[in-house]
Amino acid sequence: MTDAMFAAPGQFYRGNLHTHSTRSDGVLEPVEVCRRYAAEGYDFMALTDHLIGLYNYPITDTTPYRVPGFTTILGAELHSGAMQNGELWHILAVGLPADFDPPVVPDFHPTDGQESGPALAARAREAGAYVAIAHPEWSGLSLADARSLEHADAVEVYNHGCAVGADRPHGFYILDRLLEDGRAMTLCATDDAHFTEPDHFGGWVMVKAVENDPDALVAALKAGHSYSSTGPDFRGIHWEEDQVIIESSAVTSVIVQGKGAAATAVHGDSMTRTHVPLQRFSQCDWLRVTVVDRAGRRAWSNPIRR
Ligand SMILES: [Zn+2]
Ligand SMILES: [Zn+2]
Repeated sequence: MTDAMFAAPGQFYRGNLHTHSTRSDGVLEPVEVCRRYAAEGYDFMALTDHLIGLYNYPITDTTPYRVPGFTTILGAELHSGAMQNGELWHILAVGLPADFDPPVVPDFHPTDGQESGPALAARAREAGAYVAIAHPEWSGLSLADARSLEHADAVEVYNHGCAVGADRPHGFYILDRLLEDGRAMTLCATDDAHFTEPDHFGGWVMVKAVENDPDALVAALKAGHSYSSTGPDFRGIHWEEDQVIIESSAVTSVIVQGKGAAATAVHGDSMTRTHVPLQRFSQCDWLRVTVVDRAGRRAWSNPIRR
């Protein structure tokens, strides 16, 4: 069975879902952020400034910076209420309407009586946004926090800014536990670029969509028709009863992960079509795939259910 993403019509578009500008705490004007992503060969990006009072609740209008071959999706990084550790929630919302009603959040400190993070995420999703749990490792997000956020499409499993600035880039621990709970979740890699340090062009999504259009891209993300990468590409994923066949750019490892400790890795040189046996996964109702290239860069498939 060919993976649903590869069976879907359309083509792959490369994009960054998490970025900041001078409308919040980034150092480049929105026009220059968009110019740089277009210049670097991206097909789309979402400018997701911090939606708090300190910055006058920006949902930055990037529509003037769309050019042929490059589009933008409106979005924001949402904040409201405290996580278990007492710090403010960070929630990524891509595909947010420009008139989305912001919560009352003066600054980066939670205050009593604020809308909760989970309630805010639910509103954003109701408004049509693709919602991701942002940088769980950097936030110190607990599993209880993640379970309370019932209205999320994805977990940000790699955040390049958090890699460069904190060496806390990942979200796989949280994602895999939510999958074990039976949640239908996907994953994303992002930059979270502020351009304050080398925090850009390091993590992206490849979205299979019928056109490079904001609505089509958000719909494809919500359908799980994407993979995430820091370098390599998936070219095909074929699920069979006892093995999965992974077609990719040249990689040195292909790793399948499932419930609990279940994992199987195949290593080699310049592999582009790799058979991974699935015997280890008889008790697993979800699986996902990682490929690793010679430079240690990775790409991650979305989880599949079976
Ligand atoms: Zn954040
Ligand atoms: Zn951010």
